[in-house]
Amino acid sequence: MLAYTYVSHSHFALTDKSKPVILRPTDAIVRVTMSSICSSDLHIKHGSVPRAVPGITVGHEMVGVVEEVGTAVTAVRPGDRVTVNVETFCGECFFCQHGWVNNCTDPDGGWALGCRIDGGQTEYVRVPMANQGLNRIPDGVTDEAALFVGDVLATGYWAARISEIQPGDTVLILGAGPTGLCTMLCARLHNPGKLIICERDAERRAFVEAHYPDVTITTPENVQSILRNERGGADVVIECAGSEDTFRMAWECARPNAVVTVVALYDAPQTLPLPDMYGKNLTFKTGGVDGCDCAEILRLIEAGRIDTTPLITHRYPLAKIEEAYRLFEERRDGVMKIAIVN
Ligand SMILES: [Zn+2]
Ligand SMILES: [Zn+2]
Repeated sequence: MLAYTYVSHSHFALTDKSKPVILRPTDAIVRVTMSSICSSDLHIKHGSVPRAVPGITVGHEMVGVVEEVGTAVTAVRPGDRVTVNVETFCGECFFCQHGWVNNCTDPDGGWALGCRIDGGQTEYVRVPMANQGLNRIPDGVTDEAALFVGDVLATGYWAARISEIQPGDTVLILGAGPTGLCTMLCARLHNPGKLIICERDAERRAFVEAHYPDVTITTPENVQSILRNERGGADVVIECAGSEDTFRMAWECARPNAVVTVVALYDAPQTLPLPDMYGKNLTFKTGGVDGCDCAEILRLIEAGRIDTTPLITHRYPLAKIEEAYRLFEERRDGVMKIAIVN
């Protein structure tokens, strides 16, 4: 089968691999029907994910059909359409019991698929701990509508959930890339009074304007003046951009006693200038997604309350995935997300 493989630093290639088999009773084999490219795939390519193992199939955002299950898998059965969770987690350790599945202590726990073990930019994938890692897609929900449930949409849902948004709040989101937009769609569920997205790139600002007319879109230059009429800043700031100056912007744009949630993954250490923010009494929340809400997210999609399908701006067959990567990496042609269709 075709598998897009992390060959070595800066080098991914479409290779031929044999179809995966069940290794443990908790495994499932999923026939991938659709996958996507995430900026974390590019982080692997460029060497900023040291734990990524050369030789693995990349891709951690996918949907498919269960082909085969191990004897201990009870949550899904062959023939079920499923989303695949980016995180592998046991569901039993201290962290899993608290919903902090990102910190699962199992040796296979955390981001394994498409990083430490073979992932989903291929035809078949072995999913460990499938009772936790797979969620059935409701009949009325298409593959495209479910494609981001296990990763970028899970991230947006988690970011909005931990940000303690109160009804009527002014919520500022930094970055109108896929993560920022998924966060915006989920922040909406908490009934904010005002949603503001700050984005440097004009093409992405135009995307927001075209698809989400209820959202206020602004630039890094103007964001402070938009907030001036508010309570000295936003009630909640969610930083999804990860640019050089966006961490500073995040806390500067927050009102006193605000929650600042940092979802972004930075290439370099950031400064936390505590003397400058003294008396602002901010609460910072940081980290990587706890992807344990996929069933709820699928329910919200089924109910029409979240729709990420406009984010799919391009579609490619697996055989042309290299072309898709080039487009995604060079951010050409207004690309937001790409569906790789099998
Ligand atoms: Zn990702
Ligand atoms: Zn665990």
